[in-house]
Amino acid sequence: MSRVDIDHVWKVYPRANTAAVKDLTFTVNHKEFLVILGPSGGGKSSTLRMLAGLEDITRGEIRFDGKVVNNLGPAERNVALAFESYALYQRLTVYENIAFPLRAKGMKQPEVHRKVTEIAERFALTPVLKKHPSSLAGGQQQRVSLARALVRQPNLTLLDEPISHMDQRVRAEMRALIRHIHDTMGNTTVYVTHDQAEAIALCDRIAIINGGMLQQIGTVAEIWNRPANKFVAFFVGEPAMNFVTGVVQDGRSVVIPTDQGAKVFRIAGEIDGRYVGREITVGVRPQQITVSREEDGENTIPGRVRLIEFRGEITVLTMDLSDAKKTELKVVVPATERYAPGEVLWLRWPSEIIHLFDGEVPVTPQQPG
Ligand code: ADP
Repeated sequence: MSRVDIDHVWKVYPRANTAAVKDLTFTVNHKEFLVILGPSGGGKSSTLRMLAGLEDITRGEIRFDGKVVNNLGPAERNVALAFESYALYQRLTVYENIAFPLRAKGMKQPEVHRKVTEIAERFALTPVLKKHPSSLAGGQQQRVSLARALVRQPNLTLLDEPISHMDQRVRAEMRALIRHIHDTMGNTTVYVTHDQAEAIALCDRIAIINGGMLQQIGTVAEIWNRPANKFVAFFVGEPAMNFVTGVVQDGRSVVIPTDQGAKVFRIAGEIDGRYVGREITVGVRPQQITVSREEDGENTIPGRVRLIEFRGEITVLTMDLSDAKKTELKVVVPATERYAPGEVLWLRWPSEIIHLFDGEVPVTPQQPG
């Protein structure tokens, strides 16, 4: 399969007040690993189930390689599925569960055996092949479900939170394995998660969905540097982007009034003239702020350290700014730098890291990709 087109797709569940998916349009390219990311209830699973053929499409079209598949069932679409609620066949052994889709295709036993043992080895399932799923822990059952989904060569692999029941350490391993299998099989994968770290680790591109609507689709760098709206700016990034209220001074600068006077921030590019004199939201990522003990001119603002969180290689400072709203701001610093609670630090926001928003809408200038 080369590509999947989702074209103005809606999903309205009978008896539901609002649509779960609203006018969704995007394309998954040939051999792409696309992650659908968003908060719970945003419409990710509904979208995936419509791709799988498990859920009717209320309006719009889904096309595989240009061919409309709206009325095809899961088997006719030749898709592989692994869902969080792994539907394993409890009466069958792990071996037979994994073999099932191969036997369904009419594959001969020697070939089935070769494929099952090979994928079982990759998923560390060899010791449990003769067991029944019910005797396995949740994380192990998810691995069986994944192995069963990935054992055959489908047109499209659809994975819905397939590793969310596994513990942290195994998850990192599984991500690498899922990506490796995608790369070696050379097919197209759509992967649903609410976990941005997982999305970033796996994807070629991310489609961010909230409230049933597409917020942005792009590479991690595109989403990080040019968020399509304030929701995306806040949702992607850990710790999340800081927002402070400022006033547009002229086409090149914004001021933030503080107890120590107005702080001026130069902006990269030109702000539309109609914003001059107006309040605006200034966004800066905690990872892009630099810290100094001395005041050093434009594009800096003082803040007092309130909390210090050690996170291994980095430390996260929670600071109180002295602006009118006493905004709480997070800053990421290297763990080698030591600060004390109560200390006043000068925070530098270089022009290139400053995002401006008018409500949800990003205001030019935007950062270079
Ligand atoms: P996500 O996967 O992002 O958590 P879902 O697609 O599961 O989102 O859900 C989107 C919305 O649709 C939610 O409000 C959810 O309650 C609703 N929904 C999901 N499945 C059904 C269903 N079978 N019947 C009615 N409403 C549903």
